[in-house]
Amino acid sequence: MKRLFTVLLILSLTLPLSGCKGGCYESGSGELSIVTTVFPAFDFAREIAGEQASICLLIPPGSESHSFEPTAQDILRIQNCDLLICNGGESEVWLEDMLEGLDGDKPRVVMLDCVQALEEEVKEGMQAQAHEHEEEEAEDHGHEPEYDEHVWTSPRNAALISRAISERLCSIDPENAEYYTSRCDSYCDSLLALDEDFRSLFQELGNPTMIFADRFPVRYFVEEYGLDYYAAFPGCAEQAEPSARTVAFLIDKVREENTPAVFYIEFSNQKMADVICEDTGCKKLLFHSCHNVTRQQLDEGVSYLGLMRKNLETLKEAFG
Ligand SMILES: [Zn+2]
Repeated sequence: MKRLFTVLLILSLTLPLSGCKGGCYESGSGELSIVTTVFPAFDFAREIAGEQASICLLIPPGSESHSFEPTAQDILRIQNCDLLICNGGESEVWLEDMLEGLDGDKPRVVMLDCVQALEEEVKEGMQAQAHEHEEEEAEDHGHEPEYDEHVWTSPRNAALISRAISERLCSIDPENAEYYTSRCDSYCDSLLALDEDFRSLFQELGNPTMIFADRFPVRYFVEEYGLDYYAAFPGCAEQAEPSARTVAFLIDKVREENTPAVFYIEFSNQKMADVICEDTGCKKLLFHSCHNVTRQQLDEGVSYLGLMRKNLETLKEAFG
């Protein structure tokens, strides 16, 4: 059964993308070849490497990043690239397994290793996922903590990751070190300005509690600004139907906190947000986790900074 599912999954991932360079979304035409797994890695690489690199976004736009399976062509790309930038953590175990099979060490930047990682948190009211292989995993890895992977949602972390990418590029391609460093400096200035804007907004608003009628891949964001939060599901494992109890809990919290808006994340079916809004009369607003974007957004030049600036406006609209 599992095998059949895997085959179907591979088919569903590869078929619609057969016309799209083996499933890789590419940007730039420089000499260095960089492979990235998730959108934030792709965007940071683009900002730092500029015209010196061609950058591939491996996980197809609009798809579920936690159930990605590489094609033979993806494996070749990774084998042949000059630099690999990945997320790390549970959802990229496939990558670890693959790299073990390759000859020699691949230069890479693991985003999760660039920052102070936080363990996944199941907060009051959250519906914890039934973990499919929990017992197997416990046997395999002992009691390794599971880290929350969505590190980029804090702009300060984004700056740390960008700095690590820049340093790695400087060592791979020292001739252009000045180019990378100066691009990184100005990009980090923009990220830290964004961070300041969030900080002063939250101060002005008196640190509102954020309620997510959805999964919660934005823990690093709320931790960065010291905000309290409630959400239906931890992290962003597969979307499940919320239980009546979860929905009721969030409705109570909306009333208790007298919150004017609940948030949902990109690619959500928004059903839970609709139910909560109908019951409480609050607004529903989209908060970008920047985890993944659509093909159309990529074609239109979407960026992490742009999406996070939208979040800033959304927060003003929600609590202002
Ligand atoms: Zn995720």
